[in-house]
Amino acid sequence: MPILKTTDSERLQEVLDDIADRIAGMSERGKVAQYIPELATVDLNQFGIAIAPIDGPLISAGDAGTLFSIQSISKVFSLTLALQQVGASLWQRVGREPSGDPFNSIVQLEHERGIPRNPFINPGAIIVADVLLEDRSSDEAVNDLLALCRELSDDNSIEVDASVAESEMRTGSRNRALAHFMQAEGNLNAPVEDVLSLYFRQCSIAMSCEQLALAGRFLAAAGQNPATGATVLSAQRARRVTALMMMCGSYDASGEFAFRVGLPAKSGVGGGILCIVPGIASVVAWSPGLDQKGNSHLASIAFQELVRATGWSIFGPST
Ligand code: GLN
Repeated sequence: MPILKTTDSERLQEVLDDIADRIAGMSERGKVAQYIPELATVDLNQFGIAIAPIDGPLISAGDAGTLFSIQSISKVFSLTLALQQVGASLWQRVGREPSGDPFNSIVQLEHERGIPRNPFINPGAIIVADVLLEDRSSDEAVNDLLALCRELSDDNSIEVDASVAESEMRTGSRNRALAHFMQAEGNLNAPVEDVLSLYFRQCSIAMSCEQLALAGRFLAAAGQNPATGATVLSAQRARRVTALMMMCGSYDASGEFAFRVGLPAKSGVGGGILCIVPGIASVVAWSPGLDQKGNSHLASIAFQELVRATGWSIFGPST
């Protein structure tokens, strides 16, 4: 099967419409995240998908313009900012290996002396947030993250959803435990509540599939924002962030996602999944119902169907 080109926008639109139609008819939709009360109220019957090719206009279907909580997908953008700020020294405080444990697991941290396995599980992202606070307040860091997302999506309307942030702040005992433990081990410098104030707000940024697909596009384009030509990360760093997405972006289901889809991905408990198709496009699918590992059930199915129809798996087409 030939690999579908993004210039064939008519065919791509048909592929997306077909996926959205089939997903609309599926009765097993997963479960919305219950542990963040504000996310538990989101309507399960939503699905959107958007492709941002590196060399052409957006293509989308379903609820691709609806805002949702980006949650852990924010970890890609906070990592990007931290790498811009401190470069490779970041890796003294957080590893680069898949954890094989749930995203909020505490168990590994004790064995590994407060150094989280990777920046895409909660303790790793909490360390990245702490790094961002080295030279700014948590309000400034939230603004810098929003500025990055707005610049990349070319959309100044992107904001933190204050009610989701407040909901996480109120119920975030597990993340507090992770942060306190890392502080006890000497791997967290700023006060725990400052770090969590940034972490909870970054997770509560609300974006649509279309905005998020544009925001991820620099990773498909060797670190450059194709809209402006600006370098967001060096080509080498962009490749490394993408490698981490492949190995760690879906937590303890990263192997399963690579097996089924074969694209670097970052998922969040708001039900979004951002996938990078290197040299071709950035793609976001969203549906709020999650599977047992905390990844969107229907967005995962949508990506399986997308790679089958386009041949975009980095491991080659299926037939
Ligand atoms: N804000 C969520 C948490 O800290 C993010 C988790 C996720 O999306 N996997 O638990």
